[in-house]
Amino acid sequence: MEKPDTLSKSQNKKTKIVLDREDVRCYNKNMKENLSLLSDILGSYSGSNDEHLFQCPYCKHHKRKFSVNIKRGVYKCWVCDAKGRSLYRLIRRFGSFKQRETWKALSGEKTDLNGFDSLFEEDEKENFEQILQMPPSFKSLCGNKRFQTPLKYLKDRGIDKKDILKWKMGFCSEGPYQGRIIIPSFNENGDLNYFIARTFTDNYKRYLNPPVSRDIIFNELYVDFDKEVTIVEGAFDAVKAENAIPILGSTIRETSRIFRRIVQNDTPVLLALDPDAKYKAENIKRLFLKYGIEIRELQYDDERDIGDMSKEEVKNLSQNAPFIREDDSLVSAISNL
Ligand SMILES: [Zn+2]
Repeated sequence: MEKPDTLSKSQNKKTKIVLDREDVRCYNKNMKENLSLLSDILGSYSGSNDEHLFQCPYCKHHKRKFSVNIKRGVYKCWVCDAKGRSLYRLIRRFGSFKQRETWKALSGEKTDLNGFDSLFEEDEKENFEQILQMPPSFKSLCGNKRFQTPLKYLKDRGIDKKDILKWKMGFCSEGPYQGRIIIPSFNENGDLNYFIARTFTDNYKRYLNPPVSRDIIFNELYVDFDKEVTIVEGAFDAVKAENAIPILGSTIRETSRIFRRIVQNDTPVLLALDPDAKYKAENIKRLFLKYGIEIRELQYDDERDIGDMSKEEVKNLSQNAPFIREDDSLVSAISNL
């Protein structure tokens, strides 16, 4: 087995780092235990010294293409390009609770993110859920052909019957939200926690927000955090994408519920914000990269929002969306500010 770097330094008389035999023995034992734990999670491996090849837990390619360097604590798949600089990330994603604890005890490795743990403690305390009533005079458009004006508006936006049913769309015939399409949002328990109200009668105010917090996960009830989540600007964009969450014209911060859920679940992200929201998108990318979240971004040449596209088009663009890396110039330029 290859010796730790510091050992060769100890033979150099200029340095004061001296490792005795006990340290080296302990170090080697630790590496062995780490490898054995990793193998419990990822399966059998080949390779020697510090570099080992496993089957990739992300793309599950049939050959061992997933390279792990235990000493440096890095991994990379040569097929799907999954990679990271913290082996704990693998343990967290694919290991059991017990394995995670064992790993932490063995390596003393922690996510080197200040306040990361306390961020989630706060979450427990602030688990307040806002619950709303449907706006007055709400009429469902599910299976109702009578209301031709709102239905025509939706049809013109490329929204079909299935979408209306899935998103439980309706409109208001009277009251403060009169003449507006309503898309309700339900929390995990199925309670209404928000709704958007978009005019279909050319009101000068396109959207009328209910007077509550937008720090919610829009239609959390339907979101699968074990799959890639598409982050979009508005609810009408979300209709065109898969497993999508609209941020409702807001942004994502470390304290946002949506951000915490994504980090807690290590959910991959596909960013599909409006083309005129470049600066906001850069900030969001930088934030997710900081927490080791895999992120891809929809890329196309025109100025349309995805709400203006067909589902087919969005799907095709999604399939070609590239991964965003920390060395992408714009992201790192902002990081360096
Ligand atoms: Zn892979």
